[in-house]
Amino acid sequence: MTIYFFNTMDRVREEFTPVKEGQVGMYTCGPTVYNYAHIGNFRAYIFEDLLRRTLEYHGYRVTQVMNLTDVDDKTIRDSRAAGLPLAEFTAKYKQAFFEDLKTLRIEPAEHYPAATAHIPEMIALIQTLMDRGFAYQADDDSIYFSIAKCPGYGKLARIDLDNQQAGVRINADEYAKDAVADFALWKAWDEKDGDVWWDSPWGRGRPGWHIECSAMSMKYLGKTFDIHTGGIDNMFPHHEDEIAQSESANGCRYVNYWLHCAHLMVDGDKMSKSAGNFHTLRDLSARGFHGNELRWVLLGTHYRKKLNFTFEAVEQARISLQRFRELFRRLQQEPKPGAATPAVTTAVAALRQQFAAALADDLNVSEAFSALFGLLRESNRILDEGSCSDADAATIMDQFHDFNRVLDVLDFEPGGTEVPAEIMAMAEKRQQARKTRDFATADAMRDQLKTRGWVIEDSPNGWRVKPL
Ligand code: AMP
Ligand code: ZN
Repeated sequence: MTIYFFNTMDRVREEFTPVKEGQVGMYTCGPTVYNYAHIGNFRAYIFEDLLRRTLEYHGYRVTQVMNLTDVDDKTIRDSRAAGLPLAEFTAKYKQAFFEDLKTLRIEPAEHYPAATAHIPEMIALIQTLMDRGFAYQADDDSIYFSIAKCPGYGKLARIDLDNQQAGVRINADEYAKDAVADFALWKAWDEKDGDVWWDSPWGRGRPGWHIECSAMSMKYLGKTFDIHTGGIDNMFPHHEDEIAQSESANGCRYVNYWLHCAHLMVDGDKMSKSAGNFHTLRDLSARGFHGNELRWVLLGTHYRKKLNFTFEAVEQARISLQRFRELFRRLQQEPKPGAATPAVTTAVAALRQQFAAALADDLNVSEAFSALFGLLRESNRILDEGSCSDADAATIMDQFHDFNRVLDVLDFEPGGTEVPAEIMAMAEKRQQARKTRDFATADAMRDQLKTRGWVIEDSPNGWRVKPL
Protein backbone atom coordinates (compact mmCIF):
# COMPACT_ATOMS: atom_id res chain seq x y z
CA MET A 1 0.00 0.00 0.00
CA THR A 2 1.38 3.42 -0.87
CA ILE A 3 1.96 5.73 2.08
CA TYR A 4 1.50 9.50 1.82
CA PHE A 5 2.84 12.16 4.15
CA PHE A 6 2.38 15.90 4.23
CA ASN A 7 5.95 17.13 3.77
CA THR A 8 6.44 20.46 5.53
CA MET A 9 9.30 21.28 3.17
CA ASP A 10 7.04 21.37 0.12
CA ARG A 11 3.75 21.99 1.98
CA VAL A 12 2.07 19.15 0.05
CA ARG A 13 1.07 15.55 0.56
CA GLU A 14 3.68 13.33 -1.08
CA GLU A 15 4.14 9.65 -1.77
CA PHE A 16 6.64 8.15 0.65
CA THR A 17 9.68 6.48 -0.93
CA PRO A 18 12.49 5.56 1.46
CA VAL A 19 16.19 5.83 0.63
CA LYS A 20 16.61 2.07 1.21
CA GLU A 21 13.76 -0.17 0.22
CA GLY A 22 11.84 -1.55 3.17
CA GLN A 23 13.74 0.55 5.71
CA VAL A 24 13.16 3.93 7.28
CA GLY A 25 15.63 6.19 9.05
CA MET A 26 13.84 8.66 11.29
CA TYR A 27 15.17 11.42 13.52
CA THR A 28 13.12 12.94 16.32
CA CYS A 29 14.15 16.00 18.31
CA GLY A 30 14.01 14.79 21.89
CA PRO A 31 13.62 16.47 25.25
CA THR A 32 15.81 19.05 26.88
CA VAL A 33 16.33 17.30 30.19
CA TYR A 34 16.11 20.20 32.63
CA ASN A 35 12.63 19.40 33.97
CA TYR A 36 9.79 16.90 33.62
CA ALA A 37 8.34 16.86 30.12
CA HIS A 38 4.76 18.14 29.93
CA ILE A 39 1.94 16.51 28.01
CA GLY A 40 2.39 19.07 25.19
CA ASN A 41 5.84 17.57 24.63
CA PHE A 42 4.25 14.15 24.80
CA ARG A 43 1.80 15.07 22.09
CA ALA A 44 4.84 15.37 19.83
CA TYR A 45 6.34 12.08 21.03
CA ILE A 46 3.02 10.25 20.65
CA PHE A 47 2.60 11.57 17.11
CA GLU A 48 6.10 10.24 16.37
CA ASP A 49 5.15 6.93 17.96
CA LEU A 50 2.09 6.73 15.72
CA LEU A 51 4.33 7.45 12.74
CA ARG A 52 6.84 4.72 13.53
CA ARG A 53 4.15 2.16 14.36
CA THR A 54 2.31 3.00 11.14
CA LEU A 55 5.49 2.41 9.15
CA GLU A 56 6.04 -0.88 10.99
CA TYR A 57 2.42 -1.88 10.41
CA HIS A 58 3.03 -1.39 6.72
CA GLY A 59 6.08 -3.63 6.82
CA TYR A 60 9.00 -1.17 7.15
CA ARG A 61 11.93 -1.68 9.46
CA VAL A 62 12.34 1.59 11.34
CA THR A 63 15.52 2.98 12.85
CA GLN A 64 14.52 5.91 15.03
CA VAL A 65 16.95 8.23 16.74
CA MET A 66 15.83 10.56 19.52
CA ASN A 67 18.42 12.87 21.01
CA LEU A 68 18.60 13.94 24.63
CA THR A 69 19.65 17.56 24.98
CA ASP A 70 21.65 17.40 28.19
CA VAL A 71 23.71 20.54 27.67
CA ASP A 72 22.27 23.90 26.59
CA ASP A 73 21.41 27.29 28.08
CA LYS A 74 18.54 25.91 30.19
CA THR A 75 20.20 22.78 31.57
CA ILE A 76 23.25 24.79 32.63
CA ARG A 77 21.14 27.56 34.15
CA ASP A 78 18.98 25.20 36.20
CA SER A 79 21.71 22.79 37.28
CA ARG A 80 23.63 25.74 38.69
CA ALA A 81 20.51 27.02 40.43
CA ALA A 82 20.07 23.54 41.94
CA GLY A 83 23.73 23.46 42.97
CA LEU A 84 24.30 20.15 41.17
CA PRO A 85 26.84 19.02 38.58
CA LEU A 86 25.25 19.12 35.12
CA ALA A 87 25.38 15.32 34.60
CA GLU A 88 23.80 14.58 37.97
CA PHE A 89 21.09 17.17 37.39
CA THR A 90 20.11 15.90 33.93
CA ALA A 91 20.31 12.19 34.92
CA LYS A 92 17.23 12.59 37.09
CA TYR A 93 15.17 14.02 34.21
CA LYS A 94 16.46 11.50 31.72
CA GLN A 95 15.25 8.70 33.96
CA ALA A 96 11.89 10.41 34.49
CA PHE A 97 11.51 10.80 30.74
CA PHE A 98 12.01 7.08 30.10
CA GLU A 99 9.49 6.25 32.82
CA ASP A 100 6.96 8.59 31.21
CA LEU A 101 7.51 7.01 27.79
CA LYS A 102 6.59 3.65 29.31
CA THR A 103 3.48 5.02 31.00
CA LEU A 104 2.31 6.41 27.66
CA ARG A 105 3.18 3.16 25.87
CA ILE A 106 5.55 4.93 23.50
CA GLU A 107 7.64 2.35 21.68
CA PRO A 108 11.35 2.87 22.40
CA ALA A 109 13.55 4.39 19.71
CA GLU A 110 16.57 2.41 18.56
CA HIS A 111 19.00 5.11 19.75
CA TYR A 112 18.83 7.82 22.42
CA PRO A 113 22.13 9.68 21.96
CA ALA A 114 22.96 12.25 24.60
CA ALA A 115 24.57 15.48 23.42
CA THR A 116 27.34 15.35 26.02
CA ALA A 117 28.41 11.94 24.69
CA HIS A 118 28.91 13.30 21.15
CA ILE A 119 31.04 16.42 21.56
CA PRO A 120 33.89 15.09 19.30
CA GLU A 121 31.37 14.48 16.47
CA MET A 122 30.07 18.04 16.83
CA ILE A 123 33.58 19.49 16.86
CA ALA A 124 34.40 17.53 13.68
CA LEU A 125 31.30 18.86 11.94
CA ILE A 126 32.06 22.44 12.95
CA GLN A 127 35.61 21.95 11.68
CA THR A 128 34.23 20.88 8.29
CA LEU A 129 32.06 24.02 8.19
CA MET A 130 35.11 26.14 9.05
CA ASP A 131 37.21 24.42 6.39
CA ARG A 132 34.50 24.95 3.77
CA GLY A 133 34.08 28.62 4.62
CA PHE A 134 30.58 28.45 6.11
CA ALA A 135 31.63 29.34 9.64
CA TYR A 136 33.84 31.91 11.32
CA GLN A 137 35.19 32.79 14.73
CA ALA A 138 33.89 36.11 16.05
CA ASP A 139 35.35 38.60 18.52
CA ASP A 140 33.64 36.80 21.38
CA ASP A 141 35.66 33.66 20.39
CA SER A 142 32.47 31.76 19.57
CA ILE A 143 32.04 30.08 16.18
CA TYR A 144 29.07 31.21 14.07
CA PHE A 145 27.40 29.87 10.98
CA SER A 146 27.27 32.49 8.24
CA ILE A 147 23.82 32.40 6.69
CA ALA A 148 24.98 34.72 3.90
CA LYS A 149 27.08 31.79 2.64
CA CYS A 150 24.06 29.53 2.46
CA PRO A 151 21.75 30.56 -0.42
CA GLY A 152 19.03 28.08 0.55
CA TYR A 153 18.74 29.38 4.11
CA GLY A 154 15.09 29.85 5.07
CA LYS A 155 13.66 27.29 2.65
CA LEU A 156 11.90 25.19 5.29
CA ALA A 157 10.37 27.98 7.37
CA ARG A 158 9.95 30.19 4.27
CA ILE A 159 11.30 33.21 6.02
CA ASP A 160 11.98 36.41 4.26
CA LEU A 161 15.72 36.87 4.08
CA ASP A 162 15.33 40.51 3.04
CA ASN A 163 14.82 41.35 6.70
CA GLN A 164 18.15 39.88 7.53
CA GLN A 165 20.64 42.25 9.06
CA ALA A 166 24.10 41.50 7.76
CA GLY A 167 26.57 40.45 10.42
CA VAL A 168 24.03 40.21 13.25
CA ARG A 169 24.81 37.28 15.49
CA ILE A 170 22.69 35.22 17.86
CA ASN A 171 24.20 33.30 20.71
CA ALA A 172 21.07 31.99 22.45
CA ASP A 173 19.92 28.43 21.71
CA GLU A 174 16.36 29.54 21.09
CA TYR A 175 15.41 32.71 19.29
CA ALA A 176 12.44 34.28 17.63
CA LYS A 177 11.45 34.09 14.01
CA ASP A 178 12.32 37.71 13.30
CA ALA A 179 15.87 37.10 14.48
CA VAL A 180 17.30 35.89 11.21
CA ALA A 181 20.95 36.01 11.98
CA ASP A 182 24.20 34.07 12.16
CA PHE A 183 23.80 31.45 14.86
CA ALA A 184 26.31 29.91 17.24
CA LEU A 185 27.85 26.53 16.44
CA TRP A 186 30.32 26.64 19.30
CA LYS A 187 29.91 28.95 22.26
CA ALA A 188 33.05 30.18 23.93
CA TRP A 189 33.04 29.60 27.69
CA ASP A 190 31.85 32.43 29.93
CA GLU A 191 31.30 32.54 33.66
CA LYS A 192 27.61 31.66 33.34
CA ASP A 193 28.75 28.21 32.18
CA GLY A 194 30.55 27.45 35.46
CA ASP A 195 32.42 24.17 35.15
CA VAL A 196 30.66 23.11 31.94
CA TRP A 197 33.15 23.25 29.07
CA TRP A 198 35.06 21.11 26.59
CA ASP A 199 38.34 21.82 24.82
CA SER A 200 38.15 22.49 21.11
CA PRO A 201 40.42 23.85 18.35
CA TRP A 202 38.79 27.25 19.10
CA GLY A 203 39.26 27.20 22.85
CA ARG A 204 37.09 26.08 25.74
CA GLY A 205 33.39 26.11 25.21
CA ARG A 206 30.33 24.06 24.41
CA PRO A 207 28.26 23.26 21.32
CA GLY A 208 25.14 25.17 20.27
CA TRP A 209 21.83 23.30 20.32
CA HIS A 210 21.34 22.98 16.55
CA ILE A 211 24.70 21.37 15.76
CA GLU A 212 23.82 18.55 18.15
CA CYS A 213 21.03 17.22 15.93
CA SER A 214 23.06 17.57 12.71
CA ALA A 215 26.01 15.66 14.17
CA MET A 216 24.01 12.90 15.83
CA SER A 217 21.57 12.26 13.00
CA MET A 218 24.50 11.92 10.59
CA LYS A 219 26.28 9.49 12.90
CA TYR A 220 23.31 7.15 13.29
CA LEU A 221 21.35 7.63 10.06
CA GLY A 222 23.81 8.88 7.44
CA LYS A 223 24.10 12.16 5.55
CA THR A 224 20.70 11.84 3.86
CA PHE A 225 17.89 10.09 5.66
CA ASP A 226 14.14 9.65 5.30
CA ILE A 227 12.12 11.43 7.96
CA HIS A 228 12.76 14.21 10.46
CA THR A 229 10.05 15.11 12.96
CA GLY A 230 9.30 17.55 15.74
CA GLY A 231 6.71 19.97 17.02
CA ILE A 232 5.94 22.87 14.71
CA ASP A 233 7.82 25.27 17.01
CA ASN A 234 11.02 23.40 16.15
CA MET A 235 10.77 24.35 12.50
CA PHE A 236 12.43 27.70 13.02
CA PRO A 237 15.17 28.27 13.94
CA HIS A 238 16.10 24.73 14.99
CA HIS A 239 15.31 22.67 11.89
CA GLU A 240 16.20 25.46 9.51
CA ASP A 241 19.62 25.66 11.15
CA GLU A 242 20.06 21.89 11.07
CA ILE A 243 19.46 21.94 7.30
CA ALA A 244 21.92 24.80 6.78
CA GLN A 245 24.67 23.07 8.77
CA SER A 246 24.19 19.57 7.37
CA GLU A 247 23.74 20.50 3.72
CA SER A 248 26.64 22.97 3.77
CA ALA A 249 28.98 20.45 5.39
CA ASN A 250 27.94 17.39 3.38
CA GLY A 251 27.00 18.90 0.03
CA CYS A 252 23.89 16.75 -0.22
CA ARG A 253 20.26 16.80 0.78
CA TYR A 254 19.76 16.37 4.52
CA VAL A 255 16.22 15.01 4.92
CA ASN A 256 13.61 13.79 2.43
CA TYR A 257 10.42 14.23 4.50
CA TRP A 258 9.80 16.76 7.25
CA LEU A 259 6.80 16.07 9.48
CA HIS A 260 5.71 18.53 12.17
CA CYS A 261 2.88 18.23 14.65
CA ALA A 262 0.65 21.09 15.76
CA HIS A 263 0.57 22.14 19.37
CA LEU A 264 -1.33 20.91 22.35
CA MET A 265 -3.30 23.93 23.53
CA VAL A 266 -4.89 25.04 26.78
CA ASP A 267 -7.66 27.63 26.52
CA GLY A 268 -6.33 28.90 23.21
CA ASP A 269 -2.66 29.05 24.18
CA LYS A 270 0.18 26.64 23.46
CA MET A 271 0.92 24.45 26.47
CA SER A 272 4.43 25.39 27.55
CA LYS A 273 6.65 25.61 30.54
CA SER A 274 7.22 29.31 30.07
CA ALA A 275 3.47 30.08 29.98
CA GLY A 276 2.99 27.99 33.14
CA ASN A 277 -0.18 26.39 31.70
CA PHE A 278 1.20 22.87 31.62
CA HIS A 279 0.45 19.48 33.15
CA THR A 280 3.14 16.90 33.59
CA LEU A 281 2.26 13.26 33.24
CA ARG A 282 3.12 12.84 36.90
CA ASP A 283 0.57 15.47 37.97
CA LEU A 284 -2.11 13.74 35.96
CA SER A 285 -1.19 10.24 37.15
CA ALA A 286 -1.38 11.48 40.72
CA ARG A 287 -4.91 12.65 39.95
CA GLY A 288 -5.90 9.15 38.92
CA PHE A 289 -5.66 9.35 35.14
CA HIS A 290 -4.10 6.36 33.41
CA GLY A 291 -1.41 6.38 30.76
CA ASN A 292 -3.64 4.84 28.11
CA GLU A 293 -6.45 7.34 28.76
CA LEU A 294 -4.03 10.21 28.17
CA ARG A 295 -2.50 8.38 25.22
CA TRP A 296 -5.98 8.10 23.71
CA VAL A 297 -6.53 11.85 24.01
CA LEU A 298 -3.11 12.85 22.67
CA LEU A 299 -3.32 10.34 19.83
CA GLY A 300 -6.89 10.89 18.76
CA THR A 301 -6.64 14.20 16.89
CA HIS A 302 -4.83 14.41 13.57
CA TYR A 303 -1.26 15.50 14.17
CA ARG A 304 -1.47 18.61 12.01
CA LYS A 305 -4.50 19.95 13.88
CA LYS A 306 -4.21 21.85 17.13
CA LEU A 307 -5.55 19.87 20.04
CA ASN A 308 -7.20 21.56 22.98
CA PHE A 309 -6.59 19.69 26.22
CA THR A 310 -9.63 19.18 28.47
CA PHE A 311 -10.39 16.86 31.35
CA GLU A 312 -13.71 16.01 29.70
CA ALA A 313 -11.76 14.48 26.82
CA VAL A 314 -9.86 12.26 29.24
CA GLU A 315 -13.14 11.21 30.89
CA GLN A 316 -14.53 10.42 27.46
CA ALA A 317 -11.49 8.26 26.71
CA ARG A 318 -12.05 6.44 30.00
CA ILE A 319 -15.66 5.72 29.05
CA SER A 320 -14.65 4.49 25.60
CA LEU A 321 -12.01 2.20 27.08
CA GLN A 322 -14.61 0.84 29.44
CA ARG A 323 -16.83 -0.02 26.48
CA PHE A 324 -14.04 -2.03 24.94
CA ARG A 325 -13.35 -3.85 28.20
CA GLU A 326 -16.99 -4.76 28.47
CA LEU A 327 -17.00 -6.03 24.89
CA PHE A 328 -13.91 -8.18 25.51
CA ARG A 329 -15.67 -9.71 28.50
CA ARG A 330 -18.70 -10.53 26.36
CA LEU A 331 -16.53 -12.00 23.62
CA GLN A 332 -15.04 -14.37 26.18
CA GLN A 333 -18.31 -15.41 27.76
CA GLU A 334 -21.12 -15.31 25.21
CA PRO A 335 -20.13 -16.93 21.89
CA LYS A 336 -21.53 -20.36 21.03
CA PRO A 337 -19.37 -23.18 19.66
CA GLY A 338 -19.29 -23.05 15.87
CA ALA A 339 -17.51 -22.22 12.67
CA ALA A 340 -16.68 -18.76 11.30
CA THR A 341 -19.53 -16.81 9.74
CA PRO A 342 -18.46 -15.56 6.27
CA ALA A 343 -20.25 -12.22 6.75
CA VAL A 344 -18.27 -11.56 9.94
CA THR A 345 -14.96 -12.50 8.34
CA THR A 346 -15.70 -10.16 5.41
CA ALA A 347 -16.72 -7.29 7.66
CA VAL A 348 -13.55 -7.64 9.77
CA ALA A 349 -11.36 -7.69 6.66
CA ALA A 350 -13.04 -4.52 5.35
CA LEU A 351 -12.39 -2.75 8.66
CA ARG A 352 -8.75 -3.81 8.58
CA GLN A 353 -8.47 -2.39 5.09
CA GLN A 354 -10.10 0.87 6.21
CA PHE A 355 -7.67 1.11 9.13
CA ALA A 356 -4.53 0.46 7.07
CA ALA A 357 -5.58 2.88 4.32
CA ALA A 358 -6.44 5.60 6.83
CA LEU A 359 -3.02 5.48 8.46
CA ALA A 360 -1.27 5.37 5.07
CA ASP A 361 -3.07 8.61 4.25
CA ASP A 362 -0.86 10.97 6.27
CA LEU A 363 -1.79 9.26 9.55
CA ASN A 364 -5.53 9.81 9.40
CA VAL A 365 -6.05 8.68 12.94
CA SER A 366 -9.72 9.69 13.22
CA GLU A 367 -10.55 7.32 10.39
CA ALA A 368 -8.42 4.62 12.03
CA PHE A 369 -10.38 5.10 15.26
CA SER A 370 -13.61 4.86 13.31
CA ALA A 371 -12.52 1.41 12.07
CA LEU A 372 -11.85 0.48 15.69
CA PHE A 373 -15.33 1.62 16.73
CA GLY A 374 -16.79 -0.06 13.65
CA LEU A 375 -15.47 -3.36 14.94
CA LEU A 376 -16.90 -2.63 18.38
CA ARG A 377 -20.35 -1.99 16.93
CA GLU A 378 -20.29 -5.01 14.64
CA SER A 379 -19.20 -7.25 17.52
CA ASN A 380 -21.89 -5.96 19.88
CA ARG A 381 -24.47 -6.41 17.14
CA ILE A 382 -23.75 -10.09 16.55
CA LEU A 383 -23.47 -10.72 20.29
CA ASP A 384 -26.88 -9.08 20.83
CA GLU A 385 -28.28 -11.22 18.02
CA GLY A 386 -26.82 -14.33 19.61
CA SER A 387 -25.12 -15.20 16.32
CA CYS A 388 -21.48 -14.90 17.38
CA SER A 389 -19.57 -18.18 17.17
CA ASP A 390 -16.32 -19.07 18.95
CA ALA A 391 -14.52 -18.75 15.65
CA ASP A 392 -16.03 -15.29 15.02
CA ALA A 393 -14.98 -14.14 18.48
CA ALA A 394 -11.44 -15.33 17.82
CA THR A 395 -11.32 -13.46 14.48
CA ILE A 396 -12.60 -10.32 16.14
CA MET A 397 -10.14 -10.49 19.05
CA ASP A 398 -7.25 -11.05 16.62
CA GLN A 399 -8.33 -7.93 14.78
CA PHE A 400 -8.45 -5.85 17.97
CA HIS A 401 -4.92 -7.02 18.76
CA ASP A 402 -3.88 -6.07 15.25
CA PHE A 403 -5.33 -2.52 15.58
CA ASN A 404 -3.65 -2.23 18.94
CA ARG A 405 -0.22 -2.84 17.37
CA VAL A 406 -0.52 0.76 16.20
CA LEU A 407 -2.91 2.45 18.62
CA ASP A 408 -1.84 0.63 21.81
CA VAL A 409 -4.65 2.06 23.89
CA LEU A 410 -6.68 -1.10 24.58
CA ASP A 411 -6.29 -3.36 27.59
CA PHE A 412 -7.02 -7.00 27.00
CA GLU A 413 -6.39 -8.24 30.50
CA PRO A 414 -9.44 -7.74 32.69
CA GLY A 415 -8.05 -5.33 35.26
CA GLY A 416 -9.62 -3.10 37.87
CA THR A 417 -13.32 -3.10 38.48
CA GLU A 418 -15.28 -3.39 35.30
CA VAL A 419 -18.30 -1.16 34.98
CA PRO A 420 -21.10 -2.91 33.05
CA ALA A 421 -22.29 -1.09 29.96
CA GLU A 422 -25.79 -0.50 31.33
CA ILE A 423 -24.34 1.12 34.46
CA MET A 424 -22.17 3.29 32.26
CA ALA A 425 -25.23 4.21 30.20
CA MET A 426 -27.11 5.31 33.33
CA ALA A 427 -24.16 7.36 34.48
CA GLU A 428 -23.96 9.08 31.11
CA LYS A 429 -27.70 9.74 31.14
CA ARG A 430 -27.34 11.36 34.55
CA GLN A 431 -24.44 13.48 33.24
CA GLN A 432 -26.47 14.52 30.23
CA ALA A 433 -29.43 15.44 32.44
CA ARG A 434 -27.24 17.59 34.64
CA LYS A 435 -25.94 19.44 31.62
CA THR A 436 -29.47 20.33 30.56
CA ARG A 437 -30.37 21.16 34.19
CA ASP A 438 -32.89 18.32 34.29
CA PHE A 439 -32.16 17.60 37.93
CA ALA A 440 -35.12 15.30 38.44
CA THR A 441 -33.77 12.81 35.88
CA ALA A 442 -30.23 13.29 37.16
CA ASP A 443 -31.29 12.43 40.72
CA ALA A 444 -33.37 9.48 39.56
CA MET A 445 -30.38 8.06 37.70
CA ARG A 446 -28.15 8.55 40.71
CA ASP A 447 -30.64 6.67 42.92
CA GLN A 448 -31.00 3.84 40.41
CA LEU A 449 -27.25 3.49 40.26
CA LYS A 450 -27.13 3.36 44.03
CA THR A 451 -29.64 0.54 44.22
CA ARG A 452 -27.47 -1.37 41.73
CA GLY A 453 -24.41 -0.80 43.94
CA TRP A 454 -22.66 1.98 42.02
CA VAL A 455 -21.88 5.57 42.81
CA ILE A 456 -20.81 8.52 40.71
CA GLU A 457 -17.87 10.40 42.02
CA ASP A 458 -17.64 14.03 40.92
CA SER A 459 -14.46 16.04 40.99
CA PRO A 460 -13.28 19.29 39.40
CA ASN A 461 -11.73 17.13 36.67
CA GLY A 462 -14.87 15.28 35.73
CA TRP A 463 -16.59 12.18 37.00
CA ARG A 464 -16.26 8.43 37.27
CA VAL A 465 -18.35 5.49 38.32
CA LYS A 466 -17.17 3.26 41.14
CA PRO A 467 -18.62 0.47 43.27
CA LEU A 468 -20.51 1.70 46.31
P1 AMP B 1 11.56 20.97 24.06
O1 AMP B 1 11.90 20.09 25.27
O2 AMP B 1 11.00 22.28 24.40
O3 AMP B 1 12.72 21.03 23.09
O4 AMP B 1 10.37 20.23 23.28
C1 AMP B 1 10.39 18.86 22.95
C2 AMP B 1 9.39 18.57 21.85
O5 AMP B 1 8.05 18.89 22.26
C3 AMP B 1 9.61 19.37 20.58
O6 AMP B 1 9.38 18.53 19.45
C4 AMP B 1 8.57 20.48 20.66
O7 AMP B 1 8.23 20.95 19.39
C5 AMP B 1 7.43 19.73 21.30
N1 AMP B 1 6.44 20.60 21.98
C6 AMP B 1 6.65 21.54 22.93
N2 AMP B 1 5.48 22.10 23.35
C7 AMP B 1 4.49 21.49 22.66
C8 AMP B 1 3.04 21.59 22.63
N3 AMP B 1 2.37 22.43 23.43
N4 AMP B 1 2.36 20.79 21.78
C9 AMP B 1 3.02 19.91 20.98
N5 AMP B 1 4.36 19.75 20.96
C10 AMP B 1 5.10 20.53 21.78
ZN1 ZN C 1 16.76 18.70 17.02
